[in-house]
Amino acid sequence: MNSNKFTLISILLVIGAFILFLLSSFMDQYFIGQYTIANKIIMFIGLILLIASWGIYFMGLKQVKPQMTENVITVIACKNCNYREERPFMEGDYVFKELGSCKKCSGTSYIHAIYLVSVKK
Ligand SMILES: [Zn+2]
Repeated sequence: MNSNKFTLISILLVIGAFILFLLSSFMDQYFIGQYTIANKIIMFIGLILLIASWGIYFMGLKQVKPQMTENVITVIACKNCNYREERPFMEGDYVFKELGSCKKCSGTSYIHAIYLVSVKK
């Protein structure tokens, strides 16, 4: 959902840049030499819009990545009691990794299991 919004903004910026480039070439044809500075400014703004559209597009791509890891669940268990906790997988998680003291008792909590959840739409 979020990435679609970013894609839409980047497409709108590309369209804006395209219109500015058309306007610039139109001015070049009909007002030869008269609006050269304005022409260059319009071309420059068009170029900035194009670069911004790429930046927004890649920002959108980056935002999608963390959502992928939400489908991996890490199960935390305690060695002493029957405490169980599930949380999204984090980088560096592995089975039997010790995570310090338990939230329920003073025992040692560790990663009991890591599993994948099927993606729901
Ligand atoms: Zn415990």
